[in-house]
Amino acid sequence: MASLHGGGPLRLGGSLELSMAGAEANVAIGLARLGHTARWAGVVGDDELGLLVLRTLRAEGVDVDTARTDPDHPTGLLVQERRVATITRVHYYRAGSAGSRLTSDDATAALAGGARMLHVTGITPALGPDAASAIAHAVRQARELGTRVCLDVNHRSRLWDRGTASRALAGLLPYVDVLVASADELPLVTGGAGPAGDGDVPALPAAGTGADEDVPALFAGGTGADGDVPGLLAGGTGADEDVPGLLAGGTGADEDVPGLLAGGTGVDRDVAALFAAGISEVVVKRGAAGAEAWTADGGHATSGAVPVRAVNTVGAGDAFVAGYLSGLLDGLPLGERLLRGVTVGAFAVASDGDWHGLPNRAELSLLALDEGETVR
Ligand code: ADP
Repeated sequence: MASLHGGGPLRLGGSLELSMAGAEANVAIGLARLGHTARWAGVVGDDELGLLVLRTLRAEGVDVDTARTDPDHPTGLLVQERRVATITRVHYYRAGSAGSRLTSDDATAALAGGARMLHVTGITPALGPDAASAIAHAVRQARELGTRVCLDVNHRSRLWDRGTASRALAGLLPYVDVLVASADELPLVTGGAGPAGDGDVPALPAAGTGADEDVPALFAGGTGADGDVPGLLAGGTGADEDVPGLLAGGTGADEDVPGLLAGGTGVDRDVAALFAAGISEVVVKRGAAGAEAWTADGGHATSGAVPVRAVNTVGAGDAFVAGYLSGLLDGLPLGERLLRGVTVGAFAVASDGDWHGLPNRAELSLLALDEGETVR
């Protein structure tokens, strides 16, 4: 989608900077900057903003060969308002946008060239039934093709409530290999109680189940084409019959919430539940506290954030995912891919724009320099 960035309260008017935005596009750009092949699979309107989106992605080296232009719906728009120096508000104008019209055919086309990874987010499935179906189709097809699937939960409470999101994402989980979430998003996918008011979040399906045939998913974002292309989608369903009862009641975001499962802390229990559901890698983003990751074969790593002066935290999560997936595609050990994730995340935080300041490979070590240093 296109984006406008304002430097002060929007109601005062003034200058806005026109650019493009979107979680999956941010990840695709982050990967392309790091030298990976990346394809974005999405839909834009037949308008100037659509041309802007495609032109920007092309300029960043992202493959948009299968991206589609929809003559009947406009390109979505978001407006970022820097309300005060450190607080940004995001306003969406994307109801009925072209992006919400993503279809299963778009997903098929995007994956056709073969890809090592498909990356999807929980945002696209929230955009509407077409996009949801497309994402569900994409993750299933990825599984058939031997393409690994990464899902970033990326819950957007303005798009759907936690119960609806949880039911939708549950349909995707059987096809997910790498799950990325904030700690407070984990209960959304494990069926934990989560924050107050979360009443109807369904519990996690057991491994090998939940592959309902009629999963209404929502697709979002791109996909990868050749070799190491990571893609992007999301969607799902829920209402699985065979939800393991022990997980009901689950956990909260905080570490020490006692759940129904014996032993373990909240996050540990959520991670164990995800492994039981067949996911092989769980990555938790913790903002300025860094990140933590577990693999189903017993691997575990934590990393503090790279200390930077925060300029704009929008896009940090996507940048982190780009770094983490880059490490995965490079075959780095768990701790090193986590380190690449927090490094690229820090670049996003320390720069203006959601993706503009992301590093290329040679710049990854730049943040180790002293603040204010000039590189000659
Ligand atoms: P999201 O943007 O999805 O909410 P986070 O806020 O957790 O995700 O940020 C993602 C990653 O970006 C973090 O795991 C961390 O590595 C990095 N990051 C976020 N905020 C900061 C910060 N203030 N300073 C340095 N790194 C940060």
